[in-house]
Amino acid sequence: MNLILLGAPGAGKGTQAEILVKKLSIPAISTGNMLREAIANGTELGMKAKQHMDNGSLVPDELILGIVADRVAQPDCSNGFILDGMPRTLAQAEALENMGVKIDHVVSIEVDDAVIEGRMTGRRVCPKCGASYHIVANPPKMEGICNACGSELTIRKDDAPETVRKRLEVYHATTEILKEFYGKLGRLCIVEGNQPIEKANEEILKAIGAQV
Ligand code: AMP
Repeated sequence: MNLILLGAPGAGKGTQAEILVKKLSIPAISTGNMLREAIANGTELGMKAKQHMDNGSLVPDELILGIVADRVAQPDCSNGFILDGMPRTLAQAEALENMGVKIDHVVSIEVDDAVIEGRMTGRRVCPKCGASYHIVANPPKMEGICNACGSELTIRKDDAPETVRKRLEVYHATTEILKEFYGKLGRLCIVEGNQPIEKANEEILKAIGAQV
């Protein structure tokens, strides 16, 4: 099953992707995590992406399409994958179709902007494995430490309030239109993201016809 998680930054795509990976036994492909890793490793991709990410704008489509095309061709994606944070533009969505990547379901996780702005201040991420936490809604077992790999958690630079507002603007101006694109193709389902993580996950599983 090939899935796309759509939604504004901070809607809970990464958190839901982590749970779905375990329940559906397919990998999550987070373009944001791939780009942060590229920046940490000082690669050419990372150097090209950094400034866009730091100021809350989008990384150029051609860079994203290159890394996604390579990633979905890996053997672990042969039974399906979860795209988290991609596509973000109409051009990216159309390119996926043109590449012959078949998308079964697109789940839009919906949360009001005001709630998102409040949420972002509590987000903590693992710089090593990309796991995502929230100090109130989804705290790690040990404060400040990643459950999955034991690394020290950090605050994303682009979670600063003014950058969050910019990212929300970009979402509404450029990404939200994808709901219409996938709606017309009959693949869109909408899930309320402002509810407990487990409840939202149950709704997602039901929406995509998987066992709850
Ligand atoms: P995320 O972790 O998904 O919130 O992504 C963090 C940042 O990475 C975004 O604000 C963009 O600058 C960049 N990014 C991630 N995915 C994409 C994408 N599909 N297209 C363009 N930029 C992206």
